[in-house]
Amino acid sequence: MISINGKTRTCGLVGNPVEHTLSPMIHNTLASLQDHNLVYIPFLVEKEKLIEAIKGAFGLNILGMNVTIPYKSDIIPLLCEIDELAENIGAVNTLVRMEDGFKGYNTDMLGLLRAMNTEGILLKGEDIIILGAGGAARAVAFLCASNGANRIFLLNRTLEKAEQVANEVNHCFHTSSIVPMKMSDHHLLPDKHYLAIQGTSVGLSPNISEAPIEDKSFYKKIHTGYDLIYNPVKTKFMSNVEQGGGRAFNGLKMLLYQGVIAYELWNQVSISESQAEYVYMQMMKEIEKKINE
Ligand code: NAP
Repeated sequence: MISINGKTRTCGLVGNPVEHTLSPMIHNTLASLQDHNLVYIPFLVEKEKLIEAIKGAFGLNILGMNVTIPYKSDIIPLLCEIDELAENIGAVNTLVRMEDGFKGYNTDMLGLLRAMNTEGILLKGEDIIILGAGGAARAVAFLCASNGANRIFLLNRTLEKAEQVANEVNHCFHTSSIVPMKMSDHHLLPDKHYLAIQGTSVGLSPNISEAPIEDKSFYKKIHTGYDLIYNPVKTKFMSNVEQGGGRAFNGLKMLLYQGVIAYELWNQVSISESQAEYVYMQMMKEIEKKINE
């Protein structure tokens, strides 16, 4: 536990709601592991106060901020600079203090990439299935296209949304590697072995008995399934992947590493794998506590 004094640096989270966030736990644990005089606080911000909040944060010498729902796009006009990946995705979740304002990054996607890499999952040359075409799945599509994936099939319940995301990503990277499909047409996927990234909200607690696709023959094509959901810890999608013979992961490490990367950007340090693992164990305990409440 740090003792707050005149040299304490402040970071925080801007969003609405912020009550259930794990970010203070991630960053305050990292600060303690790094022996940094830094405190991280959640800030509940109403929509009409967002501009004042960001100007105020800069005026108050705040070192860095996370941005969560519903402000990941609204924040962009308020930045002095934006990282290229975040600009392409059109969503920012991390603000880093610069001389004239805050620079925006998307550490959600950098976090997903690092989380997958620590499990030995690489995107380069992979045939990938992305389930969903909402904010998270759209960002995953940009991430896969910018990291050398082979073909990317983007399956969504609403075909028009999948087509829109595929057009945007293909246009951005001058490619045709993203193929949009209606989710119910999954049986038309070429017979290959895929990395599947689950980016719909289906299966999120309390609807834990649901998966976006139930058909067992679909899961036989999946060698690795990565669900962005982490509550429940094992989703129905993950169980289906395992029953089909594949490896399955949840989104908790993505959440961990988006925080780790934000912390590294704010403090210009490298967090070791053992420190990240320690924070991960604390997150697991917190989630188990929440489930048992
Ligand atoms: P979103 O923009 O609301 O998108 C929801 C997606 O789910 C859409 O593609 C939607 O399809 C699909 N969907 C919803 N209900 C469905 C149903 N009954 N059947 C089939 N598809 C359905 O949400 P988001 O922000 O992208 O978030 C998606 C998930 O990612 C959430 O569960 C969130 O928890 C998770 N996430 C995790 C992290 C992390 O750090 N681990 C970070 C971000 C997000 P339609 O287009 O047809 O409506």
